[in-house]
Amino acid sequence: MNTNINTNIKDFSSYKNVWVFAEQREGVITPVVIELLGEGRKLADEIGVNLCAILLGKNVDSMAKELVAYGADTVYTADNELLEKFTTDAYTKVITDAINEFKPEIVLYGATHIGRDLAPRIASRVSTGLTADCTKLEIDPDDKKLKQTRPAFGGNIMATIICPNTRPQMSTVRPGVMEKAEKNDSRDGKIVPISFNLSKDDIRVEVIKTVKTKKDLVSLTDANIIVSGGLGMGGPEGFEMLKQLADKLGGVVGASRAAVDAGWIDHSHQVGQTGTTVKPNLYIACGISGAIQHLAGMQNSDFIIAINKNETAPILDIADYGIVGDVKDIVPLLTEKLDSVDDLIELVNA
Ligand SMILES: Cc1cc2nc3c(=O)[nH]c(=O)nc-3n(C[C@H](O)[C@H](O)[C@H](O)COP(=O)(O)OP(=O)(O)OC[C@H]3O[C@@H](n4cnc5c(N)ncnc54)[C@H](O)[C@@H]3O)c2cc1C
Repeated sequence: MNTNINTNIKDFSSYKNVWVFAEQREGVITPVVIELLGEGRKLADEIGVNLCAILLGKNVDSMAKELVAYGADTVYTADNELLEKFTTDAYTKVITDAINEFKPEIVLYGATHIGRDLAPRIASRVSTGLTADCTKLEIDPDDKKLKQTRPAFGGNIMATIICPNTRPQMSTVRPGVMEKAEKNDSRDGKIVPISFNLSKDDIRVEVIKTVKTKKDLVSLTDANIIVSGGLGMGGPEGFEMLKQLADKLGGVVGASRAAVDAGWIDHSHQVGQTGTTVKPNLYIACGISGAIQHLAGMQNSDFIIAINKNETAPILDIADYGIVGDVKDIVPLLTEKLDSVDDLIELVNA
């Protein structure tokens, strides 16, 4: 066993600034980027460096201005038709070269399908560490290193990971967890086109068609009100009942994994660790026990109402209001009573 501990303190002084990968789809910045800019701002201020975004795409000018409005001090842009749609090869090449040239000390990516595909490839190219799916980021006050926290072992432990020996420190960050940056159109920032070498031969994948899944239509992440159901709903007809309540409230229907596994509703509705993380103003949990993996995806909701026939269900411990009773009685009653809910919706959306 090698017991030598490497005590060499490496000089990372040429690495500066916090970078956010500005993922865009069809010319629209993805919502997680706004969250990363909110979090990145805090990290950059704590270290005393700039917050930068790196944006790849075609005709990126208006998106670059938007990133400045959301807090980026500098936006590095690569504008080319070969970058219009995401491909691992092209994006990896351009970002790897930019990292080697500009030497950021931290790079954040959304833990989307694109971010999870891209970040490991770049980490390997620049030989640095990457923590996947972080839910909390902090700067160590003593040495200014990034402390990256993520759930591990099915959410049963939280692991805090540091990257002491290489730069940049890179993380993918779970969408829906960090606070969004505020938009301010009068903010100033630099937009810096970067030079890059890219040809068709660099790209081994050709995107023939983009097919939208139902998930894009279910927008759980953006919903202000979510009415969610679990095994206690008893079957797909129970979800019809929830849909009526959700429609009345102007919300969307969510589900536990158990309900999804039972085939009562599509996976695109699943809330939780292996589903979507949500932070609505109001979350109504109906017939959901409150397993840790479910709580991981919804416990930051502003206001939680739980309906469960078992008064010892863990979901009731985190609920602001708990109703102990049968969902088959209570949900239709609620729907009926909420005939005039405009005031309530206004309150929740305020
Ligand atoms: C690696 C891993 C990842 C996971 N990821 C997720 C995830 O992303 N999301 C997720 O939700 N789960 C996830 N799970 C599963 C999780 O552990 C639970 O099994 C699941 O959340 C339970 O769903 P449930 O609350 O609907 O069902 P149950 O735990 O069976 O709870 C049903 C609840 O309904 C109540 N009930 C029953 N009948 C009625 C009635 N008529 N009226 C009122 N209440 C009633 C019961 O009292 C009970 O509390 C994951 C598990 C693992 C191991």
